[in-house]
Amino acid sequence: MVHARARRDRDLCVVGVRTLWRTVGDGEFFCPDCGGDRNYRRRTGRRRIVVLGLPLLPRGPVAPVVECAACAARFGTEVLDHPTTTRFSAMLRDAVHTVALAVLAAGGTEATAVRQVAVGAVRAAGFADCDEDQLLALIEALAADTGRLPGAATGERDGLDPCGTALAIELHEALEPLAPHLAPTGREAILLQGARIAVADGPYRPAERAVLETVGRALMICPDDTARLLAATRAAF
Ligand SMILES: [Zn+2]
Repeated sequence: MVHARARRDRDLCVVGVRTLWRTVGDGEFFCPDCGGDRNYRRRTGRRRIVVLGLPLLPRGPVAPVVECAACAARFGTEVLDHPTTTRFSAMLRDAVHTVALAVLAAGGTEATAVRQVAVGAVRAAGFADCDEDQLLALIEALAADTGRLPGAATGERDGLDPCGTALAIELHEALEPLAPHLAPTGREAILLQGARIAVADGPYRPAERAVLETVGRALMICPDDTARLLAATRAAF
């Protein structure tokens, strides 16, 4: 047994398979091994039979890899699906901003408390320069776009399409790519920020509730949990 293994080890030294790598692209990614935003090289490889250290016979391609420039760890290309920390913060900031706008568009902006809570949420999310005028201008532009006044969507019919299809699409676009990268509490936190804006001037209007239910769905929160969180936010006010 010992003799056979020694011989096999010796053979491996003489004849082996080596992968020759070629860099085909680069960029920035989040490295799970050294834990941060790093540069990467995307590399494809070709296997070759190596005899006495010399590559001889081609053995076909290997799956492309992503190699961290800092720690040299290699990953499958699916590692690029994970956003960088910088991108993730931007997604989070945009999510809160979009939710705040949608709730304001549905519930109206007349109440000072509502405007203040909205500005507070958007600032805390990372838009430090945000102020009421800025939010109001955006809401007006949105209303001009959809041909409807903010807060006007309180009728029964409007409850079906509370914030306009365009805004519903924007909510999905801002929230759906983010949801898989957030823990449940992180997803709930975004919904709660919207809920706090809505209840700042009293109970939920049907349109506000409909917007927040859209937010819950886009964030992959189940309808029961969304209802529970909305009720809890209202009760705490
Ligand atoms: Zn790394």
